[in-house]
Amino acid sequence: MSHVFARHTKIHPPVVASGKGCYLFDQSGKQYLDGSGGAAVSCLGHGDTDVIAAVKAQLDAIAFAHTGFFTSEPAEALADLLISRAPEGIDRVYFVSGGSEATEAAIKLARQYFVEKGEPKRSRLIARKQSYHGNTIGALSAGGNEWRRAQFGPLLLDVSHIDPCYDYRLRQADETPEAYGLRAANALEAEILRVGPETVMAFIAEPVVGATSGAVPPAPGYFKRIREICDRYGVLLILDEVMCGMGRTGTLFASEQDDVRPDIIAIAKGLGGGYQPLGAMLCSGEIYRAIEAGSGFFQHGHTYMGHPTACAAGLAVVGAIEERGLLPKVEDMGLLLRAGLQERFGEHPHIGDIRGRGLFVGVELVQDRETKQPFAPGDRIAPKIKTATFDAGLICYPMSGTIDGRSGDHVLLAPPYIITPDQVGELIDKLAIGIHAATGV
Ligand code: PLP
Repeated sequence: MSHVFARHTKIHPPVVASGKGCYLFDQSGKQYLDGSGGAAVSCLGHGDTDVIAAVKAQLDAIAFAHTGFFTSEPAEALADLLISRAPEGIDRVYFVSGGSEATEAAIKLARQYFVEKGEPKRSRLIARKQSYHGNTIGALSAGGNEWRRAQFGPLLLDVSHIDPCYDYRLRQADETPEAYGLRAANALEAEILRVGPETVMAFIAEPVVGATSGAVPPAPGYFKRIREICDRYGVLLILDEVMCGMGRTGTLFASEQDDVRPDIIAIAKGLGGGYQPLGAMLCSGEIYRAIEAGSGFFQHGHTYMGHPTACAAGLAVVGAIEERGLLPKVEDMGLLLRAGLQERFGEHPHIGDIRGRGLFVGVELVQDRETKQPFAPGDRIAPKIKTATFDAGLICYPMSGTIDGRSGDHVLLAPPYIITPDQVGELIDKLAIGIHAATGV
């Protein structure tokens, strides 16, 4: 071993051998509790026999057929199911193979929509600092994560980055959450006016921020105000639910909890649950009809889009989430997890914030609890916690991001929706081992 170009060339990970429920096993037989579903992917856990059967049946029928020639039963059925559950106005589904492809498709669709409407000057995207929308160059250009962007500047798109809605770091001491939500949203209006409304095509944001900030929910009223601003200036609202969607926060679409009507939604990760690579871009009937009446053709496409086997997996995963009543369980187990973390680490000198929604939970690590001072960039502790918990048999997802150097590192917890109360206890115990190893406390 091996010719695999690993993510970190100096790290040689163990070889995974099998998985069952909330656990993974490596070739030596060592067991790991999947406390983050990989990276918020494995929503049903591992070895789900219904999903495996659906994938096998589709492989037996037809594994792949190119969308230039065919649609397929699982793609049609999954699209119908998603549209029947999606926020009002969302009317069409464009299947892709993952999250970056979903956000790329969203950005390109927004651009084509305005070109076909005769507003070609609308090419600017507004996004938020400390955000992540994928790693392909367009999605990376949209994201506002400084360290991921650093090596690839000047990047591609005309993008502005406004401050995120980040209660722990950016709400002032004398501000109510509602007043803060309004102030944070108004930053979008200020930026639209600064660059000129006629140049802006879309605003992109995650309803609950995952990959860079560790499950940060929006302040109350934030997205309602964002929608008003988008409407006032004719700007499209793209919600990136790649991580937080498909039940992760307790509702199938995370944005259901924020009284917001997006124009475009990106989903992936939990959609295929890890059984197949699958993502989707969902858009409003208004956008679809404008393209239909114009060129009639979204100038985009990938070989594996609408892959029948991937869609069969997605149909089985979303069906299982609903038929097994997992959304209320996400809510219950999420409450249990956050309460347990609070009880165990609420006074920990290096834990500044414990937050999230449903089974999408973030722990923010700080050098100093009082001042919220993060650990120095060269001394981040999330990666150390990852290593120590992995040794102890727990998978948790480390991440770091900064807004103008103001924040530090985080651990994301996103276990499968089938996690039991005992396993929640095991997760917290093993996390404590990792945090102790990394901080000495
Ligand atoms: N958008 C968000 C919010 C994500 O968290 C991610 C991945 O973590 C992506 C997009 C990119 O998805 P993928 O890694 O499947 O390309």
